[in-house]
Amino acid sequence: MAELFIGGNWTAGSDTRPVLNPFDGSVLTTVAEADAKDALRAVRAARAAFDAGSWPRTPAAERGALLNTVADLLLRDRDDIARTETLDTGKTLGESIADVDDVVRVFRYYADLADKHPGRIVDTGIPNAQSKIVYEPVGVCALITPWNYPLLQASWKIAPALAAGNTIVVKPSEITPLTTIALVRLIEEAGIPAGVVNLVLGAGATVGAALAESDDVDLVSFTGGLATGQRIMVAAAGNVKKVALELGGKNPNIVFADADLETAKDQALNAVFLHAGQVCSAGARLLVQDSIYDEFVAEIAARADRIRIGNGLDENSQSGPLVSEEHRAKIERYVESAIAEGAKLLAGGRRPDEPELQQGFFYRPTVFADCRRDMTVVREETFGPILTAERFSTEEEAVELGNDTDYGLAGAVWTRDAGRAARVAGALRHGTIWINDYHPYLPQAEWGGFKRSGIGRELGPTGLDEYREAKHVYTNTDPKPLGLFPG
Ligand code: NAD
Repeated sequence: MAELFIGGNWTAGSDTRPVLNPFDGSVLTTVAEADAKDALRAVRAARAAFDAGSWPRTPAAERGALLNTVADLLLRDRDDIARTETLDTGKTLGESIADVDDVVRVFRYYADLADKHPGRIVDTGIPNAQSKIVYEPVGVCALITPWNYPLLQASWKIAPALAAGNTIVVKPSEITPLTTIALVRLIEEAGIPAGVVNLVLGAGATVGAALAESDDVDLVSFTGGLATGQRIMVAAAGNVKKVALELGGKNPNIVFADADLETAKDQALNAVFLHAGQVCSAGARLLVQDSIYDEFVAEIAARADRIRIGNGLDENSQSGPLVSEEHRAKIERYVESAIAEGAKLLAGGRRPDEPELQQGFFYRPTVFADCRRDMTVVREETFGPILTAERFSTEEEAVELGNDTDYGLAGAVWTRDAGRAARVAGALRHGTIWINDYHPYLPQAEWGGFKRSGIGRELGPTGLDEYREAKHVYTNTDPKPLGLFPG
């Protein structure tokens, strides 16, 4: 139990914490639990490595080469890491393998980008003056991640932060730390200098808060819930550290009557029930045009009832459990509120009956019709397997409904009318819009939210810029006294 990695050494914490398998509630393993002092030790190690170490001054191409080595090692250990992710999160093995492959692509993308945007020359318009913009690492970065995509979310932060030359302290969710530990071991194996990458495990309120508050941290990048993000912004204000937030979503999936309805139905299920709905961009809010609404929603509900839930390691399972008992209790409260507020339950709304699923944190895929925008279940992010269906009649109404949310992470529009698709995509106030698709994301394309879905962008070139400071260097090549204050 020495899973904290501080200043190049694996150490134990002041306490330990069991990690549960959500499939059956059993203890998978026990890991070190840090406290605030451990977090600050990790910050000091990162500070020293930034201020006096080699990494920020290492040529960017060499930093990129190290990231490529990490990608190679991830491929070597792909099966083990994917299996661990499934045991820890409950998601299906197929999803976990896809996650590892995505993570490899993210590391390769930033490996490649590391030395591609060194800065630019500015035309000063002034004789004897040269001007250039250079990019430098921000400094010590605290990277705090959630439990739904532990490895993936860690990679979106770690790869660009290291490419840019920062030193980092990573804190994964206390519920699902295992693949982040594995990733840090691979980064160590790849040859990262001591102190550049530090790992602390433990509770958000102690370890995470200590990182967010520390005056020695220059940037905090956080992915998680809205309320936690708000707390982190407040904690970060002390030294005005840079803040990047990837928060929740309440994402409209808009289906027009002229869409390819068979594909739209199939994808509507994928949009919301992937990883049991525990996806920030889940298409949990289905908006269907009046003329096809009844048939479309009834068919979705019938198919939801046929989804096979089970052990993520079992090839027959199409979906796994929720991550924890507490999270399932939260989903059950949302279902109760939806019924109390008048939504019509068409599928699910209960735990499964199978005896072998009784120990785990399972919940049946759930579909509600007759939903209204003022319902709690429509307004709040449930982060579970709950689909709400609303109707609309016109394009304007679809856009108006789709934008009537505090969040702004993602949305989709299904139609065969290219003009309409472009108009709706242009009018929706969300960070990602899919046209006739749902969920694909690319390492090359920015990801992030409008409104309360966050601040900043991950992935793409902007995902690297989040971890860099732009510095203007101005040179006078023929300096002369100005004579303004001749004395
Ligand atoms: P959470 O906010 O409870 O926890 C996220 C992380 O923050 C964990 O590591 C936790 O320990 C830590 N934390 C908790 N309190 C803290 C504090 N006071 N100070 C510092 N750190 C603290 O979120 P979660 O339940 O793990 O994840 C689910 C949420 O994440 C959902 O709302 C989901 O939408 C969001 N999410 C967003 C994206 C995105 O890209 N926008 C991606 C995945 C998940």
